Amino acid sequence: MTSSGHDTHDEHTHAHGPGCGHASAGHEGHVDYIHDGHAHAAHEGHYDEHALPHAAHEGHAHVHGDSCGHEAVAHGEHVDYAHGGHRHAAHEGHYDEH
Ligand SMILES: [Zn+2]
Ligand SMILES: [Zn+2]
Ligand SMILES: [Zn+2]
Ligand SMILES: [Zn+2]
Ligand SMILES: [Zn+2]
Ligand SMILES: [Zn+2]
Ligand SMILES: [Zn+2]
Ligand SMILES: [Zn+2]
Repeated sequence: MTSSGHDTHDEHTHAHGPGCGHASAGHEGHVDYIHDGHAHAAHEGHYDEHALPHAAHEGHAHVHGDSCGHEAVAHGEHVDYAHGGHRHAAHEGHYDEH
């Protein structure tokens, strides 16, 4: 298991916010921003790494697949598709933000 304390994301040059374009999810009183398969939460001038929350992408009309033209990125035991600064993973008939 991990040690006590918390995991921080070093050298995070991007500032997450309401207009940054990344998907966000409420998490126990703060907001996680989801990008590159991670969830980041602002904390005292840096970003903490948090477990990826379940955030479904609403109204996803496109079907990702081998020839859809989007970049496929291996993520654990599944594949994310990258487009528009987001990564989407198929999940039970919808797409999750990853
Ligand atoms: Zn952001
Ligand atoms: Zn969090
Ligand atoms: Zn981040
Ligand atoms: Zn921290
Ligand atoms: Zn696609
Ligand atoms: Zn993923
Ligand atoms: Zn997508
Ligand atoms: Zn889902």
